[in-house]
Amino acid sequence: MQPSIKTCPCQVHPLFTPVSSALTYSNCCQPYHDNFYQDGTDNSEGARAESAERLMRTRYSAFVLVKADYIVATTVPAQQALLDIEAIESWAKQTDWAGLEIVRHTPKIGKRHAQVEFKAYFNTPDGLQAHQELSAFVKIADKPTNKNARWYFLDPTVAMTVSQKQPCICGSGEKFKRCCGVYLAN
Ligand SMILES: [Zn+2]
Ligand SMILES: [Zn+2]
Repeated sequence: MQPSIKTCPCQVHPLFTPVSSALTYSNCCQPYHDNFYQDGTDNSEGARAESAERLMRTRYSAFVLVKADYIVATTVPAQQALLDIEAIESWAKQTDWAGLEIVRHTPKIGKRHAQVEFKAYFNTPDGLQAHQELSAFVKIADKPTNKNARWYFLDPTVAMTVSQKQPCICGSGEKFKRCCGVYLAN
């Protein structure tokens, strides 16, 4: 099968029959993935995830296709150096991914946050299982133009050394505890 005509991983749902409207990879997540693969940075204006849900979908597809670079690049920049890219890669490879279900998308919380609740399905020797998560995302504008805001994933599993009263890691200028700290507190 040609990679270009394959159904996008994010369009697969294990509990529903595939619908004819399911998008192909080239019409869904590939433009976002390729954008990062040209030179490791995001220079193109065309393929920035327009919503937190879109970013979440492209991240799921990146796990299925083992594109750890994309997972790192779409995590909030302050956390990127703290991610274990090899661990991400081996986990992505070892998992027998079976599909994605977006449970709920809250596209706007306050000025710059959003949440997506989803179920990522995977096959195990004991049958189909789902990892359910409520993920938070933050929108950060390019410096110094303050334009072209882009969504990033806030990873609650990454230990941040920022104190609650320090300026937020997203660069908003607000205190961490009043900004992204709300979503990173465990
Ligand atoms: Zn997709
Ligand atoms: Zn913040």
